[in-house]
Amino acid sequence: MKLIVLGSGTSVPHPTRSSAAFWLETAGGILLLDCSASSIHRMAQENLDWANLDAIWISHFHLDHCGGLAPFLFGTKHAPNTQSRTKPLRIFGPTGLKKLIDAFDSANAYGLLEQPYPLYVSEIENLEKFEIVPGVEAVAGKTPHTDESHAIHLRDADGKTLVYTSDTGFWELIAAFARSVDLLLIECSFVRDKPVEIHLELAEAMHLIRKAAPNRAILTHLYSEWDNVDFNVEIGKFEPGCEVIEAVDGLRLDISEITEY
Ligand SMILES: [Zn+2]
Ligand SMILES: [Zn+2]
Repeated sequence: MKLIVLGSGTSVPHPTRSSAAFWLETAGGILLLDCSASSIHRMAQENLDWANLDAIWISHFHLDHCGGLAPFLFGTKHAPNTQSRTKPLRIFGPTGLKKLIDAFDSANAYGLLEQPYPLYVSEIENLEKFEIVPGVEAVAGKTPHTDESHAIHLRDADGKTLVYTSDTGFWELIAAFARSVDLLLIECSFVRDKPVEIHLELAEAMHLIRKAAPNRAILTHLYSEWDNVDFNVEIGKFEPGCEVIEAVDGLRLDISEITEY
């Protein structure tokens, strides 16, 4: 699997961190993990083949994670690149996803579901196992963030595994869900003294990483208070048991090799 960070930020506009989105190349196809409004242009900025995306995962309905869905579907409906596309695009997300897309669509009769290619929308329940693209097994896991929010566990055809927590409050079960994965992509909204329960601060994220014992972890969903600290100094105050790296927009990782590329 190859991961490209499209958006390491949050809902708050930031000069260098777009809202949440991650490009993931697997043996069975290309995934977009969350689809923020900025992500649809970030894919083009990174010279990625967005017109051939195979599946989109929506973790929850906060707009910094799904606000690009309607604009993306509006784009693929009309873009020259997608007019001859025949392979399907599959969108997976929590219960309520169909209603959300319908609400966008009916606001102005955009015809978002009438695409040049087959489009399928699937609602996934807690602990449901599904094939997100051929040969890639996915499991959704509930998180304490919103009523519908999910983390996702992915296993590629070669056995490599990734967990993306998306937004979450602190919950020990997240460590069990992410146990021994090759890459744990975990939110770490705040450095310390978090103002809300539904996100993580560094000490909590490090506790979950230490218990999950992944090969490697990336901290993402970073609010602007991270701008004012030295990431490695903060990480150095803990013993997470694996390499922990800061998500930055444009970061590329080959998870099979565990190298930057
Ligand atoms: Zn968010
Ligand atoms: Zn959220």
